[in-house]
Amino acid sequence: MSKVKRVYTFGNKKAEGRADMKNLLGGKGANLAEMCLLGLPVPAGFTITTDTCTEYYQNNNQLPEGLMDEVWAAMKQTEEIMGMKYGDSENPLLMSCRSGARSSMPGMMDTVLNIGLCSATIPGIIKKTGNPRFVWDSYRRLIMMYADVVMEKAEGLETPDGKGIRKQLDEMLDEFKHSKGYKSDTDMSADDLKVLAEMFKDRIKKAIGREFPDDATDQLVGSIKAVFKSWNGKKAVSYRRIEGIPDEWGTAVNVQAMVFGNMGDSSATGVAFTRNPATGENLFYGEWLVNAQGEDVVAGIRTPSPLNDATKNEQNETLHSMEEAMPETYKELSDIRETLEKSFRDMLDIEFTIQEGVLYMLQCRAGKRTGTAALNMAMDMLHEGLIDEKTAVLRLNPSQLDELLHPICDPKEEEKHTPIVKGLPAGPGAAVGRVVFTAEDAVAWARKGEKVILLREETNPEDVEGMRAAEGILTARGGMTSHAALVARGWGKCCVVGAGALNVNADKKIAKIAGTDKVIVEGDLLTLNGTRGNVYTGSLPLMDATENPRFQEFMGLADKYRTMGVRTNADTPEDASLALSFGAEGIGLFRTEHMFYGKGSEEPLFLLRKMILSSNVAERRTALDELFAFVKKDIKATMMAMDGLPVTFRLLDPPLHEFVPQSREKQEEIAKALKIGLDEVVKRGEVLHESNPMMGHRGVRLGVTYPEISEMQIRAIFEATAELMKEGKTPKPEIMVPVTCDVAELDFTKKIVDKVYAEVCSKFGIKEISYLYGTMIEIPRATLLSDRMAKSAQFFSFGTNDLTQMTYGFSRDDTGGFLHDYLDKNILAADPFQTIDQDGVGQLITMSVEKGRGTRPDLKVGICGEQGGDPASVEFCFRTGLNYVSCSPFRVPIARLAAAQAAIKAGK
Ligand code: PEP
Ligand code: MG
Repeated sequence: MSKVKRVYTFGNKKAEGRADMKNLLGGKGANLAEMCLLGLPVPAGFTITTDTCTEYYQNNNQLPEGLMDEVWAAMKQTEEIMGMKYGDSENPLLMSCRSGARSSMPGMMDTVLNIGLCSATIPGIIKKTGNPRFVWDSYRRLIMMYADVVMEKAEGLETPDGKGIRKQLDEMLDEFKHSKGYKSDTDMSADDLKVLAEMFKDRIKKAIGREFPDDATDQLVGSIKAVFKSWNGKKAVSYRRIEGIPDEWGTAVNVQAMVFGNMGDSSATGVAFTRNPATGENLFYGEWLVNAQGEDVVAGIRTPSPLNDATKNEQNETLHSMEEAMPETYKELSDIRETLEKSFRDMLDIEFTIQEGVLYMLQCRAGKRTGTAALNMAMDMLHEGLIDEKTAVLRLNPSQLDELLHPICDPKEEEKHTPIVKGLPAGPGAAVGRVVFTAEDAVAWARKGEKVILLREETNPEDVEGMRAAEGILTARGGMTSHAALVARGWGKCCVVGAGALNVNADKKIAKIAGTDKVIVEGDLLTLNGTRGNVYTGSLPLMDATENPRFQEFMGLADKYRTMGVRTNADTPEDASLALSFGAEGIGLFRTEHMFYGKGSEEPLFLLRKMILSSNVAERRTALDELFAFVKKDIKATMMAMDGLPVTFRLLDPPLHEFVPQSREKQEEIAKALKIGLDEVVKRGEVLHESNPMMGHRGVRLGVTYPEISEMQIRAIFEATAELMKEGKTPKPEIMVPVTCDVAELDFTKKIVDKVYAEVCSKFGIKEISYLYGTMIEIPRATLLSDRMAKSAQFFSFGTNDLTQMTYGFSRDDTGGFLHDYLDKNILAADPFQTIDQDGVGQLITMSVEKGRGTRPDLKVGICGEQGGDPASVEFCFRTGLNYVSCSPFRVPIARLAAAQAAIKAGK
C-alpha cells in the first residue's frame, strides 16, 4: 500500500473524514463523513481523495498504483457494515459511484448507480428481494448509465450529432413501450425489462464495439475512472470557467452502498432545502417521488410532489406531500433538518432515500440560493444566533447583490396581462427576451447582442453555457430542484421551470401550448416572472426592485467591517445622486467628455466642435469661452450633489476626431458658425483623422498641444468650487490628468493649474481652495516610473481599461472578435477587461503603488477602470492597499460588500 492515504471510509456513525476536509474529500465526501459523525443514517461507503484525481491526470489517465488495494480494503469494511458482499451471488451489495468536487458543481460531472449488477449477482438479488421487476429495472438503468458515462463519454466517443448511446437507448425504450401499447415505464413487467436489457447490450456492442462488462470488479474500476474523467468533461470545464473554479482542484469519488427508493410504494426518494432557496423563508422545502431513484427527481423526468403542506403551490397542491403520506418518516427527516442546520450553521441542500420505510441520508451541502434568499437567511440566522455578524456578511456572494437591485415585472402592469402559461418560480426577478430553443442558439444570439429566453423541454446540465447567455430560462418539465433550476438560482438568473402545458419541439423550434391554439416560435418576445412562475407574450414593463430595509441593514453591517473606500464613476448630478443612494463615498471618475454625448448635449457639443475645428488659438479661445459656462455648470451641479465628498474631475480624454461632425447638416452648421466654407470644415476634420486614435492625440497630449483646453476646464473646476464655498458648501475637487506616461506631462499641466488657481482665488477673494492634483495611471510606462510620477501627483487612479489594453496589446474596442476564442480554448481563464489580470496587470499595479508611496507615503490610490466593481478585483485592490475603488452606481453595493468581505477574510 502507498504511504499517501487515498481512501477514507464512512458508515455506522463513524468516519475517517470530517466536514472541514473538503479540499481533500470534496464537499460531498466531507459532509457524508460529518453526517455519520452526527449519528445520522448514511449508507456506508468510502471517498477517494481529490489528490488522487490529480495523480490520475499526472499519471497519464491511469489509476495510481496501490489505489485499488485501498479501495478493496474499504469495500470490505463497507460490506461488514451493510451485511452484504460486493459481487456475491447470494447476498450481493450494490454500489453507487459519484463525483464530488471541493465546491458544488451540480450535474456537471457523472454518476453511475447500481454498480455490481451482473449475471453472477442478479439471481441472488432477485431471490433476496423477491422483486424481479425491481432488479431488472435497476439493471437496465445501470446499462444505460454505464454505457453513456463509462463506455462513451469517458472514452471521448461522444457523437457530434447528439445521437449518443444514451439517446439511442432512450429511443429504444420509447419504441419498446410504444410497441407494447404502454404509457409509462411502470407498465413494463420484469420480463419486458429483461428483454430490453438484452436488446440494450446488443445495441451497445454494435454502437461502441465493446461488450457491456458482466463483471462487478470491472464495473467498479470503470466507474471510478469515468468519474475522474468527467472532471475534464465539456460541461464541467465550461462550468469551471464561469464559476472560476481552478482546473487543478480535481474531483473526489464517492463510492457508497446503494439504497433503493424504487422498491415499491413504501420507498421513495427526494431532495430538500432546509429553508426556501428562492425566498429564504424558514420553512422546510423540498420535493419527493414515491417509488423512484434519486436521478428521477433531479433529472426532471417526473414532476415531483411537495415535501409538506406548508410549501405546496398552485402547481402541486393536488399532489400528496410526504408529511401526509409518510408522517413518521417526515418527522424523522424534519429532526435531521434541525440537527444539520445547528451543526453546519447554514441552509443545506439534502438528498435522501427511503427504502421500504427506512430513511437514509445520501448527501448534504450548502444550498444554492437566490440573492434575496441569501440576504434573508443571513439576517435571520444572525438574529436566531446561529451565525455571527462577520459570517452574515460573508454569506452573500457580492455578485448576488446585483440581482437584488435587478428589475422585476411592474406589478400594476402585470395585473393587466394574463400569463400564456405558468410554471414553477425557480429563479427570481423578471426577464424579457426572444425565444431560442437550443443552448447553442442562446450563445450565438447573445453574442450578436440579442436578449434571449432559452426555452427547453427539460432542464439539462448540458445547457449550461446557453443558460448563462440567456436573460431567462423556461422549461416545460422538471421541479424546483432540477439541476438547471439549481444552477440558474445560483446565478440569480430569472427562471421558470415545469411549465407543463408547453409542448416543446426543439428540432422544429416551436412550442405548442396545450389546451389552446397558441404556439411559441423562435424569435418570439416573451416576458418571464421568475418570482411567480408566470410567462407572458410580448415585452412587459420592468421596474427596479424597491430597496428593502433588510438590504439596508445588511449593507450597514458590511460597512461596519469595510476599511477600503468605495466611490462611483459618475458624470451627471443624477448619476451622482443615484450612486449616493447606493452608498458611494465620492466620485472617483467624472469623465468631462460625457457632457458631449446624449441628453442635453446638443449645445455643448456644437461649441466643442467649433473649438475643435478652429484653426488658431484666437478662434479656439472664443469657442472655449462659450463652452466654459456649460462645463462649469455641470461640474458645479455634480459637486453640489456630492457635497462634502471628493469628486475627481478628469480633464478631457478622448481623441478630438471622435467629435468631428460627420453628417452634412452638422458640417454646414459649423461652417456657418466659423464663417468658413463646407470644404474647409471637411478638410479640417480630415486633418484630425488618426490611424490608431486610442494611442493617438488624446488625454494629456491634447493639453500639451492646446493648453487653452486644459486651462478652460481647470478654471471651470476652481470657479465652481469657489462659488460653492461662497454658498456655504464643502466642495472637494480633485483634478486628474489622463493618459500620462511621464512626470514632465504632469509638471507641464500643473503650471496651468497653479496659474489658474491664483487667478480664481484673487477673482473670488479667497485665500485658499482645497483640492488635490493627481493622475490616471493607465500606461505601463507610468507604472514603471511611478516614483517619479508621485513627485507631482498627490493621487493615482488606475485606469485599468487602458492599462489592460496596453499591457496585453489587446485593443479594448476590438476584443469582441477574438476574446471568446481565448476563453473557449482555455488560453485565458477570464476576460481581463472584466476582472483584473492579477498576474500581469496586477503586478504593474502593485509595483506602481509601492514606488508611488516610496516617494509620497500619503499618496492616495484608487482604481476607476470597469474592473472596480468586480468582486475579485475589489479583493485584489484591498490586498494591494488601495484607498478606494470606483465603479458605476449600480455596482457600488457590490463593491462595498466585496471590500467588507476582503477585510473580514484578511482579519481571519
Ligand atoms: C480606464 O482607462 O480605465 C478609464 C477609466 O478611462 P476610460 O475608460 O475613460 O479610458
Ligand atoms: Mg482610460
